[in-house]
Amino acid sequence: MDNEKKRSASFSKGLLQSGELYQYVLETNVYPREPELLKELRDMTATHPRAIMATAPDAGQLIAMLLKLINAKRTIEVGVFTGYSLLLTALTIPEDGKIVAIDMNREAYEIGLPVIRKASVENKIEFIESEALPVLDQLLEDPGNENGFDFAFIDADKINYWKYHERLMKLVKVGGIVVYDNTLWSGSVAMPEECTPEILREGRQRTLEFNKLLAADPRVEISLAPLGDGITICRRMH
Ligand code: SAH
Ligand code: CA
Repeated sequence: MDNEKKRSASFSKGLLQSGELYQYVLETNVYPREPELLKELRDMTATHPRAIMATAPDAGQLIAMLLKLINAKRTIEVGVFTGYSLLLTALTIPEDGKIVAIDMNREAYEIGLPVIRKASVENKIEFIESEALPVLDQLLEDPGNENGFDFAFIDADKINYWKYHERLMKLVKVGGIVVYDNTLWSGSVAMPEECTPEILREGRQRTLEFNKLLAADPRVEISLAPLGDGITICRRMH
């Protein structure tokens, strides 16, 4: 692989052997089944300078299946951005389902909001503009929220992932699922530190620490699926 290719591979969302292989998966399995409005939101996001942050559609497809498998009704989303994973969740859960969606920046959410409205799912969403940690703590102040959620998708500041996990182990019920995004951090988790591009180093370190803690956590069953930028699926066991 020449240097240019190497660089672009390390920044693309796909972690598969080649970009072509990832494209194949997207084009044969993911895009043809992606709901129209979700595609519209993805297209709108593509021109955003931080478009790379949006959840990868192949990871989204698995998230939707997980939501269906456990009949998720009440969910938590930490890290909304323009709302790809949020709209995906809202389209998947039942009519009386509810999502607590937290992001400290409402601006990007406003970009996707017209599409969310067009999909008639805004009623399922409670958007909270805030740092996530205090919101999770506030939720825990109401004993009714303990074990009150079926599912959570965490896709925000990696430095706080473990703190989120500690709260989610109380908020999400036994048998419920928590999915953490970007747990392979552009593949950098397997690079020697000195070969890791500077821009990935801090995130790489956080991700290594988080993955290690999660792997040793007896409260959850885990599976790290190499979709998108890596998603770790945790099922709360007790
Ligand atoms: N799931 C989204 C992508 C999220 S990108 C999608 O599918 O498009 C990460 C988001 O996390 C950003 O919008 C950022 O504003 C938010 N974020 C970062 N740190 C946060 C924090 N401490 N609390 C709440 N949100 C945070
Ligand atoms: Ca992400």
